[in-house]
Amino acid sequence: MAADTARPLDANKTDGELELDRVFALQKKAYAAAPFISYDQRMASLDKIIRLTEANEQKFIDAINADFGNRARHETIMSEIVITVSGAKLAKKNLKKWIRPRGVATPAHMLPAKSRLEPQPLGVIGIISPWNYPIQLALTPVIAALAAGNRVMIKPSELTPHASEAMRAAIASEFDETVCAVITGGVETGQAFTETPFDHLLFTGSTPVGIRVAQAAAKNLTPVTLELGGKSPVIIDDSADTAKAATSIAQGKMLNAGQTCIAPDYVLASPDKVDAVAEDIANAARTLYPEIDTTADYTSIISDRHFARLKTLVEEARDRGAKIIEVGSANALHPQRKLPLTLVVDPPEDIGIMKEEIFGPILPILSAKTQDDAISRINEGDRPLALYWFGNDRVARDRVLEKTVSGGVTVNDVLWHFAQENLPFGGVGKSGVGAYHGETGFETFSHMKPVFYQSKFAGTALLHPPYTEKTDKILSFLRKIL
Ligand code: NAD
Repeated sequence: MAADTARPLDANKTDGELELDRVFALQKKAYAAAPFISYDQRMASLDKIIRLTEANEQKFIDAINADFGNRARHETIMSEIVITVSGAKLAKKNLKKWIRPRGVATPAHMLPAKSRLEPQPLGVIGIISPWNYPIQLALTPVIAALAAGNRVMIKPSELTPHASEAMRAAIASEFDETVCAVITGGVETGQAFTETPFDHLLFTGSTPVGIRVAQAAAKNLTPVTLELGGKSPVIIDDSADTAKAATSIAQGKMLNAGQTCIAPDYVLASPDKVDAVAEDIANAARTLYPEIDTTADYTSIISDRHFARLKTLVEEARDRGAKIIEVGSANALHPQRKLPLTLVVDPPEDIGIMKEEIFGPILPILSAKTQDDAISRINEGDRPLALYWFGNDRVARDRVLEKTVSGGVTVNDVLWHFAQENLPFGGVGKSGVGAYHGETGFETFSHMKPVFYQSKFAGTALLHPPYTEKTDKILSFLRKIL
């Protein structure tokens, strides 16, 4: 057993696993030698993230494009570059405040002692990121971990090899590997990563893999933040402007061709509105993407395997007699794996699109007779990562907010709660454990250490033995005032 890793030494380890063990040992050693990273060093690290993201913008655009077949350039700029840089800038702006101890009220009988929560770096953090936003979903947790004064190792997805390599090179160009490093490799490396005794592990990916990650991390009692997936519903209330809602839904669903963890997964509307909603979403999609096959604005499905899975889901719905509206044509040969937005109206409950997270441009539109039916429908499933509500009736809105539990909510739009960095982002139940973004991210990667500063005027000696009648009097006084 090596001194700095709980994983056994093994001659059959892959290059990725050996690199993982080597860098982890280095980071642990560096942490032991310098457990506290100063404010100035953290600010410098955040500057490095900004610099490497901006300097490598074109490389990231090209790499992600190569991985996807086609990834809309504007989507990469908005969702990878801008979100990462703005996250780092927000951390820089607030770091002085976040790093300060938080005062906690001290009860009157303990005065004049003082109580504080003192943020402390946890040590070495592991981050496992998925393929759908390969730069942003790796670097935004890194920002939070570095702001909190940690050392960080990233294991990106093997499905985006170009983006992973571009990110590895960019990080290596700015950071010493004892502070931040990228470990690339296949599934074995991913598994080995989860077995490494990090001081905290943040995993972004699917719920089934998240469960395996939590089980592996539990062997070392490594605390985990799990950013998972699920089926995020949209409710269109009768009070909503349907055409306006439809534009938001089409945009949010077609961004990255639906390969977004918080993409609308299905829509609920009154039975008499379902057809109009479908038509409005189809019209909005045609306006947003007049041409699916040839436009560079519309992103491809990541792999042949994922493309085939989505096609099978549509075929199953078709075979089961569901009404299907394919918006625009996709070339039958699918040279770039472009899948048109496919609306499925009131499908049977027992088919794939109703049971699993869709994660592509297929959108079931379901009838819900009443508001309570919509709420029950949502509550019958796992707790969603996001919920969207459209309308103008505040009572109806508050009823949905009260009676459903989801990771986050955007009212009268989709996705935007994610981009509001001051709001914590995370799931609940099967859609995730814990959260990050903004100050919450800083706290996720800190030990918020409670410290009680006793006063030299403290009367605690009055409670020391030997116990006498005087002790009884003091105790009965305390019991009256507490
Ligand atoms: P995934 O779970 O297949 O893989 C995620 C990461 O885990 C990848 O880096 C992969 O290499 C690694 N991995 C796979 N098997 C592993 C194992 N046994 N042990 C350790 N690591 C392993 O997910 P994906 O297909 O890359 O991403 C899509 C899923 O991620 C969707 O469910 C989506 O909703 C979810 N997601 C969630 C968020 C969020 O913020 N909550 C964001 C993006 C994606």
